[in-house]
Amino acid sequence: MAHIDTEHYANQAALEDYSSGGCLPFFALPPLAVVVVGLIMALVLSRINISTSLASEIEEQNSFEIEIEDHKSFIAPYDEFTITQGVHGSSYGHLAIDIAAGKGSEIRSPINGMVTKKYTDVYGNPTLVIENEIYRVMMLHGKYSVSKGEKLIIGQVVGTESNLGYTTDMQGRPCQGRNCGYHTHLNVFDKILGANVNPLDLINHQ
Ligand SMILES: [Zn+2]
Repeated sequence: MAHIDTEHYANQAALEDYSSGGCLPFFALPPLAVVVVGLIMALVLSRINISTSLASEIEEQNSFEIEIEDHKSFIAPYDEFTITQGVHGSSYGHLAIDIAAGKGSEIRSPINGMVTKKYTDVYGNPTLVIENEIYRVMMLHGKYSVSKGEKLIIGQVVGTESNLGYTTDMQGRPCQGRNCGYHTHLNVFDKILGANVNPLDLINHQ
């Protein structure tokens, strides 16, 4: 009882102190009321925080899905590059270009898709296949850092440029074990058309 009395007295004193000012500052309110208001505000603020973080999480998920839904976009596998050989391989039912950015350059996924194959072919060429509903992209000769089954966003780094497998210099001499022939052999199959397409057409339309 003595405690309540003291508290009451203290509040009375606070009220009297500020009564001449004509306006009560908020700290003149009884402590219990301040605590209750504080709790309510904390609760309201935490609710707002939870709902905004949930909203941004959903937004992120949606934008990821939208990008994955985009199966049409196609970009070159390098930011800057030169075409070292035009369309070739049609004699054996293939269609590809050789594109180069320099030894060790980052190779990017030309599409939103998934790594469906990663292997070394009979000629010793490291081979990476990325697919979506429209395109099947095959790249050769690089040091690929992604794995089969991995989902890729367009432009994502999939490895670095190398000269592994069967690569040649400008005179047609094999570059295996030599410092030449760095490039990516790029083939694109269009599933809608049911045919290989010229990668230069896709790159030029980006
Ligand atoms: Zn080639």
